[in-house]
Amino acid sequence: MSTIQQNLQDVRSRIARAAESCARAPEEVTLLAVSKTKPVAALAEAIEAGQRAFGENYVQEGVEKIQHFSAQPQGAALEWHFIGPLQSNKSRLVAEHFAWCHTVDRLKIAQRLNDQRPADMPPLNVLIQINISDEQSKSGISLDELEMLAQAVAAMPRLTLRGLMAIPAPETDPQRQREVFGRMQQAFLQLQQHYPQADTLSMGMTDDMSAAISAGSTLVRIGTAIFGARDYSQA
Ligand SMILES: *Cc1c(COP(=O)(O)O)cnc(C)c1O
Repeated sequence: MSTIQQNLQDVRSRIARAAESCARAPEEVTLLAVSKTKPVAALAEAIEAGQRAFGENYVQEGVEKIQHFSAQPQGAALEWHFIGPLQSNKSRLVAEHFAWCHTVDRLKIAQRLNDQRPADMPPLNVLIQINISDEQSKSGISLDELEMLAQAVAAMPRLTLRGLMAIPAPETDPQRQREVFGRMQQAFLQLQQHYPQADTLSMGMTDDMSAAISAGSTLVRIGTAIFGARDYSQA
């Protein structure tokens, strides 16, 4: 078995153990394989091992991979999530190629994605990114701003508001990880009362997936634990 296949198996069992330890069903948690900077051969191995949902951070790189795999036998079964910071001038490529965008954090981006989503594609699945704890980061809105943006997104016909996403500041203490994720869980439950179609809480990465799952995450975004460390020196 290849390393990627083995890693995927290990990650799936970590997810299952984390879910079971808080009385959740493992199937409630989708595994998004974060493949940024990784070559198509690495993704092909993951696909071979049954992985179908992939997350990409860089628009151009993501579109190239989507186009590569759309010509492959498994292409139609793959689901592509854009999870990187999104600039206005790149929104069209996201609208035209991806199934999901996790990083909507302002009205202007939402409006552009809505306007640019092609009519022959299903509405783009959108998550609103919350800046829950990272003062260094300029991405994401505060919880105070959520109600207004959620209302606007939910009214856009070419977008479907599916929920919330967060990238907390790095934190090694599991108890502190859970506190931060707990605030996201509260916000998500409130959102669902107004928008029943919001079924996705995207949180948890390689180092904090268990804490995220215990706080109700329905989608973990895992890169390193599947594909190994990333090498940015070529970029
Ligand atoms: C890179 C990245 C991940 C994956 O992080 P790992 O620690 O490698 O699992 C998840 N989410 C986002 C938004 C990322 O940019």
